[in-house]
Parts: sequence; structure tokens; C-alpha cells
Amino acid sequence: MRSENSRTILWSFLAATLTSVVYFAIAWTEDKAISKRENLQLLELADNFNKTYSSIRSDDMPVPATFRRMGIEHFNARTNKDANNSQTRVLWPGRPGLEINRTTDDPHLKQIIRDYVANPSAPALYEHRFEDNRLIGRTVVPSVANDKTCVSCHNKELKRAAFKLGDIMGIYVVERDMTELLLADAKYAGGLFFLAFTMTWLFATRERSRNFNIMQLKSRIEIQRMRVEVEEKEKFLLNHDPLTALPNRKLFHDYLNPAATGDNKQTLHAALIDLDDFKSVNDTMGHPAGDALLEEVARRLTLCMDNIDGLAARLGGDEFAIVWHSKELICEPDSLAQRILNEMAKPFEFENRSITPKCSIGLASWTDTQKGDPSELLKLADIALYVAKDHGKNIYQVYNQAIDATIRRQNEIAAHLTRSIREEDLRLVMQPQVSLHDGRFIGFEALSRWTINGYEIRPAEFIAIAESTGTIRELDLQVLRKAVNFSADLEKQTGLAVPISVNLSANSFRSGSLLEDIQTILWAGKLPADRLTLEITETAAIENWQHVQDILGKLRAAGVRASLDDFGTGYSSLAYLLRMKFDQIKIDREFIQDIKDGNENHILLQHISDMVAGLGMELVIEGVETQKQFELIKNSVKGGGQGYYFARPMELDAARTYLQETVRLKAV
Ligand code: C2E
Ligand code: MG
Ligand code: MG
Repeated sequence: MRSENSRTILWSFLAATLTSVVYFAIAWTEDKAISKRENLQLLELADNFNKTYSSIRSDDMPVPATFRRMGIEHFNARTNKDANNSQTRVLWPGRPGLEINRTTDDPHLKQIIRDYVANPSAPALYEHRFEDNRLIGRTVVPSVANDKTCVSCHNKELKRAAFKLGDIMGIYVVERDMTELLLADAKYAGGLFFLAFTMTWLFATRERSRNFNIMQLKSRIEIQRMRVEVEEKEKFLLNHDPLTALPNRKLFHDYLNPAATGDNKQTLHAALIDLDDFKSVNDTMGHPAGDALLEEVARRLTLCMDNIDGLAARLGGDEFAIVWHSKELICEPDSLAQRILNEMAKPFEFENRSITPKCSIGLASWTDTQKGDPSELLKLADIALYVAKDHGKNIYQVYNQAIDATIRRQNEIAAHLTRSIREEDLRLVMQPQVSLHDGRFIGFEALSRWTINGYEIRPAEFIAIAESTGTIRELDLQVLRKAVNFSADLEKQTGLAVPISVNLSANSFRSGSLLEDIQTILWAGKLPADRLTLEITETAAIENWQHVQDILGKLRAAGVRASLDDFGTGYSSLAYLLRMKFDQIKIDREFIQDIKDGNENHILLQHISDMVAGLGMELVIEGVETQKQFELIKNSVKGGGQGYYFARPMELDAARTYLQETVRLKAV
């Protein structure tokens, strides 16, 4: 706005200056033309006067200069209405001693006369000068002897032949006071200047206010547009997820309710989709990668919804949901789930890294619901999802009655487990670990066993339940205490060092006192810290790696060893391997299950072994079951082995016997 104003002022000033300059130029040329005309008239008049005077006198008398002057003044008085106020004076300095017998003292005029004598055909001279603060315009006209009578008259007067025809006899000097004219011009020009300035100013002001109005209008329109956009965005965000632009939980429920109460609710299905190991993508590759993965998953889910009458939504985190009506076969839960898994199996690139999304899907159909409540459908899908996750990842599970039984069973187990842990009903078994190289005993892994009403429950099942019910920490510490005591007692009995490995769940790390608890147990059991190895699964370590590393770091400083369990099953194992500090890496059973000479797993295992050795860590291969596997591994890697091939997990007494046997064999 300021630059607009200064521009306006500049333009006004230029316009006004230009107007004045043009005005003055015109006035000046006009003035010049008028002076010239007047002078010509003056000369003509003087000549006429001379002639007339001479003819009247007819006695060859020259016209006295005084008469000429009178003639000019008469002419002047005639042309000026008010002769008294005439600003014109006629001076008649003649040639020195000539014309009127008077000399001029003005050296400037003397010079002009000399110039005219030198060049009689020179035109009249116009000049301006200041006299007592007044501008005087002066015209100097030569007086030429252009008449015989005039020449002879003058010669007579001079009493000698001084002139001939065409000689310069003197000059007329006509002066005019231009001050008033100048003032009038200045006033007039000032007026014009002011007018032009005012006009330009008004014009500029009008332009400016017009521009301002246009700007205001534009900004009002822009503000309105932005407001509408914001309102639309807010409206959109009320019902949509900002990251993926998929409908959010609220819109999903809004859709689900009428869908579940409509006429075709019998064809209604719901799917809950949960990304597998999403957290590790976030942790290892950063949040931008996690966000990109979520967006990609949303895009793929939308793709899967093509031709399907339903709605896909992001419920939050890595949880997505679909509700739809199936009228055709491709819309059946199995087909859709398979389609989603196929779509997810395609890798996608993020900053030159490849990510393959994996997800577990739980599905339920309206026909399964006992109640007419739409949220029941989601509950069933959630149960199915839980089972899918439990069975391993990247699979789908359709809800059925059997699942219901599973859940009921889990609930029952959960109820018993808490009590059993509190009453220390769980037993401990020990599985030996041996050196691959010479079969030497290198330690025991302590594993929990639980029998209820004569039934053995698999650790995978009860550990997961203990983790979800929060009793795992108590169990882990119990196992640790028993294992420490077992090791310390056995060492006392055999004189042999009995290293033991104990599993620690991720949940156990959530307790603030874990460090102190472990130190207390070691101290109470009087077991040297380096006899104890804590096994942390790869996924558990990743879940909260900084915290886990912090605690493990402190324990390692005290001498306790740390082992990364089930290595090779998580997402970005190698990245973690480099980032975290472990004493031992345990390769998961899955890894060597299908190992064959020269196959992919075999080559990879050799590389991992080299790398682990390079990082100064020990390697233990889990799940060695067969002679073939053993031999292949033995020839390829350095480290320890654990598996049914060497020994199954054994009760404590059996473990003691095993160790004593080992000692005996050694002694032999
Ligand atoms: P893990 O720590 O990887 O333990 C090794 C598992 O592999 C044990 O299963 C063991 O019995 C089994 N195993 C050993 N050799 C072989 C073999 O040659 N073939 C096959 N098929 N399996 C073999 P288990 O005892 O069922 O335990 C399963 C998992 O449960 C353990 O895996 C561990 O992660 C967890 N777990 C067991 N006890 C505890 C505990 O007290 N606390 C915690 N936090 N987790 C435990
Ligand atoms: Mg273990
Ligand atoms: Mg393991």
C-alpha cells in the first residue's frame, strides 16, 4: 500500500511538471512570435512615418529621430489600450554621434552596433535581462539607411558624406517589462500545475481505491474459499483418518449400524485387519516409513474393495476394518481375505528399501452373531483376529464356533494360570546346550511346564496368556530364582560351572524394578553373575529396544550375559544385531527346519555365523532334531546347539543326572 502511494505521488508530480514545461514552451514560442511581429510592425510603421513625413515636408529634411521615437510610441500607444500603463519603452541610442547626436554609454549596445555594422543583414536581436528584480525583454533592431533622402539628410546633418544606402546608422532598442507577464504565466502555469496535479491525484486516488476494492474483494473471496476449505476439511476429518483419508472409527460405526439393521443384514460381514510387526517397521526404519506403510495398506485395501458394496476404515494405529455385504462369490469373507493377503504380499519401495506389508485378518459374518447388536459382529471378528495372530502371522481366520471354544478355553486357562503361578504350581525343565564342535555341555536353558488336571498346556499357549494377563513377570522371576538355585546347588554338588539361560518376556521389562529383582535373586542364590544368560526374543527386544538395552547394559556390566532369542523370525534382524549389544545369538528353529546342503538357509546361516563371530558374539542353533541337520551345521558354523537331537528338555532330577553323567564321561 505504501509503494502504491509513492507511485501515485510520483506520477502526479511527473504529470504536473510535464504540463508546466509544455505550457512554458508554448508561452515562450508564442511570446517570441508576437515580439517579432510587433517589431516588424514597428519597423514598417517607422518607415511609413519617415516617408510620409518626408513627403509632407518635401524639402529633403531627414526625419528627426525624435519623431521616429514618437511614431513608435504612438504605434505602441495605439496597440496598447492603456498607454500610460504601457510596459514598453523605446530607447534610441544611435550610432555614436549619429542619428540623434547622442552617444550610448552602454558598452553592450556599442558592441551590438558594431556587430550590425559588420553584418547589416543580421536579424533583429532578442534578449532578456534582469533589472532591479524585473525581467526585461529587449529587442534590438538595426536602423538602416534604406532611403536616399535619409542618407543625404544625415550626411548633411553631419556635414560630410558618412552614409550611403544600406549603411547602418544606429539601432532601435525596444524594451518591454516582462515581469507581469512572467508572473501571470507563473500563476497560470501554477494553476495548471495544480489542476493537473489535482486531476492526476484524483485519478490516482480513484484508481487506488478501485484497486483497493478489487484487492479487498479478492481477499474476501479468498478468505471465504479458505473458510469453506477448512470447514470441508474439518468436516472430512470428523469422519476420516488424516493420514490415509480412509473413513475413521466413527464413520465406520455410523455405517455399520444402519447396515446391520437393514433388510440385507444377513449378508453382512466384517473384517478386522491388523498389521504384523508394524512396530518394528516404525522402530527400525523410522516413523515416515511407518506412515508410508499405513498409506500403502490403505490404498491396497481400497483397491480390494473394488466392486464391493461396503466400507474400509482405519480404526487407529495399525488396525483397519471392513464391513460389507456379500451378494456374489467374490464378496465372500474367504475370497476378500485372500484378496487382501495377496495384495499385501507385494513389496513396496520406501527410500530405496523394500517393505512387504504383512497382516492378520479376523472375519465374522452376521449369521454368526447371537445378538442383533452390530458391535457384536466386530467382537466376533476381533476374536477371529486374535486367533489368527496366535496361529502365526499373515493369515486370516473366519470366526466359527470352534474359535469360540478356543477363546473360552483361553479364558479358563487365564483364570487358572494366575492362581497356579501364585502358588508356584509350574515346574521347571532344563534343556542342555552343547558345543557343536565336540559335544561338550555348555549350559541349560530353563523352560516352564504347566500341567493342569493332568493335561500339559503348551508353553506357547500359557506364556502368551500370562503375557496378556500381566502375570508373566511373576512367572519369569520365579523361573529365574529356581534356575539360579538349581545352578548354584548343582555347582556345589559337582564342582562344575552350570551356566543357565532363562527366558525373559518383553512384559517383564515393563516393571521398573526388574534390574534390582534380578540382582537380588543372583545375590540370594550366591550365583556368579556370569553363569546367568538372559534370553530375550527378537520381537521383545525390538518392542522397546532402548529400555531393554539400558537394563541389559547395566546387567552386562555386572557380569550377566544377554542372548537374542529366536533370531531370524523378526523384521529387520540385522539392523538390530548391529545396534544392540548381546553376548549370544540364538538362531530360531524355523531357520534350520528346512536346511539342506547349499540351499538358501544354509548359505545364509554361514554368513550369519561369520558376522556373529565378527561382532564377537556366540552363536547357538536351536531346534537341531536330526543327525543330518547336526552334521550340516557342525561343518558350517562355530558355536553351540540345542535340540531334541542332543537332549529334550528334562526334569530337574534328570538334568542333574545328565550333568553328572557328563562329568563321569569326561572323567573317563
Ligand atoms: P525358546 O526360548 O526358544 O525355547 C526353545 C523352545 O524350543 C522350547 O519350547 C523347547 O522345548 C523347544 N525345542 C528345543 N529343541 C527343540 C527341537 O529340537 N525341536 C522342537 N520342535 N522344539 C525344540 P517350549 O518349552 O515349548 O517353549 C516355547 C517358548 O516359550 C520358548 O521358546 C520361550 O520363548 C517360551 N518360554 C518357555 N518357558 C518360559 C518362561 O519361563 N518364561 C518366558 N518368558 N518364556 C518361556
Ligand atoms: Mg529361549
Ligand atoms: Mg528360541
